[in-house]
Amino acid sequence: MTTSKPKRKTPRGAQINRCPDCNKFVPLELEVEEEAVDVEAKSDIGNDGVQGTVISGTIRAILKCGECGTELAEASLDVEIEDSITHNIAVGGDVGEGEHDLSLSSDVTESDTTKGKGRFAPHLYGYSLTGTVSCECGAETPVESTEYEQASGFESLN
Ligand SMILES: [Zn+2]
Ligand SMILES: [Zn+2]
Repeated sequence: MTTSKPKRKTPRGAQINRCPDCNKFVPLELEVEEEAVDVEAKSDIGNDGVQGTVISGTIRAILKCGECGTELAEASLDVEIEDSITHNIAVGGDVGEGEHDLSLSSDVTESDTTKGKGRFAPHLYGYSLTGTVSCECGAETPVESTEYEQASGFESLN
């Protein structure tokens, strides 16, 4: 064992699905975890009630051994959704035209696909986010986003 082991990039997917605990090639299981995904105002509220918003954060995607659950590789996927919301400034009552508090409720699920067609099409792993930006004035707007990373873009944990 050397302490200065050079950091090696995982070669083309091939080794990611080899589980050190099962000591064989195994099916992969994807799991995603949401890390600090939140919404912020990007601009002031316009006269028409429209305000730019940006949703940002990170989703951690983990590829696990489908047989024993050992974590084999991980990738950090960015969330960045630029959107807008139309506030109810006319009916906002005491909220008025000042600062409105935005909040995000979101659901992140595992998503995978293949890039192109054919036997050797690379497998892509990622997330699908659906949610709603809502405001204290009652305004609501749906958001969604999907991102993928190739297995070869994941960092091996073993
Ligand atoms: Zn295993
Ligand atoms: Zn509002």
